[in-house]
Amino acid sequence: MTFRTRFAPSPTGPLHLGHAYSAILAHDMARASGGEFLLRMEDTDLDRCRPEWEAQIVEDLTWLGLTWDGPIFRQSDKIAAYNARLEPLADRGLLYPCSCTRADIRAALSAPQEGVAFAVYPGTCRHRPMADRRPGDALRLNLAAALDALPENPSFVETGPRHAGTHLIDRATALAQIGDVVLSRKGEDIVAYFLASAFDDADQGISHVIRGKDLFDFTPVQVILQRLFGLPTPTYHHHRLIRDDQGKRLAKRDDARAIVKYRADGATPQDIRRMVGL
Ligand code: GLU
Repeated sequence: MTFRTRFAPSPTGPLHLGHAYSAILAHDMARASGGEFLLRMEDTDLDRCRPEWEAQIVEDLTWLGLTWDGPIFRQSDKIAAYNARLEPLADRGLLYPCSCTRADIRAALSAPQEGVAFAVYPGTCRHRPMADRRPGDALRLNLAAALDALPENPSFVETGPRHAGTHLIDRATALAQIGDVVLSRKGEDIVAYFLASAFDDADQGISHVIRGKDLFDFTPVQVILQRLFGLPTPTYHHHRLIRDDQGKRLAKRDDARAIVKYRADGATPQDIRRMVGL
């Protein structure tokens, strides 16, 4: 099997040292194994993603000396298609409409924050049939029903330093830690990042997902979705995070560590590699 991986930034800000580490690591692993490295823009959050940020990311990756195979893939081109792909799950009775507050749903849909996995949904709307879906309702996965529909407990292989091994997703833990996640929201063209990403990893034939360990907790729900949709499960590699001097994970707002800033200060791509310990 071809080793094929991807770098999948959300273009909501400049590329910083943490992203650079992730991109270089995935790129180098692909090249070292004679495989492919793809670039995917996870730009489904139409409020926060900007073409200027995408252009800056592309420029910075190019400056770092990274090359990718094929054209850049953009999730924003596919939002209607993602939503259409949910229909079979609705037909199987595995989805329900939810009108719980927008703030809760936003929190569940937006890109993950460190230390915050899923706020497990209490199931208030679980009794509602799909026919009852009203404008503005979100669609939630009925996780218990979904797990019952699978022939066996899903599992995945992790090769990253922290959690290496085979991970079995057992029912009780999934129900306690993941719950009924929001998969999409009607009328707002928003589809949950982890759903779009699971579809794209399959569509793009990704054999290895290489990404920060802050996303490790999202892997079980992606693996469950892969099983429900009959998609393959890649091998996962969650890498260490690049932290600031206070030990906090770098975020988009940490412009001081933006690659564009280091470039302006005269750093070379080799300096960036050294800074992130490569
Ligand atoms: N778009 C996500 C982020 O920028 C990465 C998702 C992934 O690599 O699976 O945090």
